[in-house]
Amino acid sequence: MIEGLEVIKNSAWFGLDIKTRYRLKNREKELERQKKANLLNRGYQIEYRKRNSERIKERRRLWNERNKRLLQIKNYNYRNGTEFSAKDIDILFTSQGGVCTYCREPLMDGFHIDHILPKKRGGTNNLTNIHLVCKRCNLSKGAKTHEEYLKYFEEILND
Ligand SMILES: [Zn+2]
Repeated sequence: MIEGLEVIKNSAWFGLDIKTRYRLKNREKELERQKKANLLNRGYQIEYRKRNSERIKERRRLWNERNKRLLQIKNYNYRNGTEFSAKDIDILFTSQGGVCTYCREPLMDGFHIDHILPKKRGGTNNLTNIHLVCKRCNLSKGAKTHEEYLKYFEEILND
């Protein structure tokens, strides 16, 4: 009986690959090796962060910006019953060159999603009726149509 168990144990043992067998036999050594590797890795991580601090900062800035944008879109969708995705807005943002349609102010610090033809005037939530504008333009545009606001904007500039 015992002999049989031994056989099973042995066959299981030999079923293991050499690396695993080595590790099981040398647990202590292995733990020590892992500890050293972790320490080395931590040192490497610190080094990496130091060397790439600018890149990491930039990546974090982009992440924060993106998430701020996602939150804005989420809030907008919630308030307006729309279903714009971050991708939709990204496409608009890129196609507009990242500036307000009216005053050309960079929209890095945020934007308003504006209906080109206001909903009050029969405009839809269709993406073709949507563009991104700065807060100032959106608030002064109110329920004006795109053409009306452009005219209004021109008048202000030439005042
Ligand atoms: Zn503007």
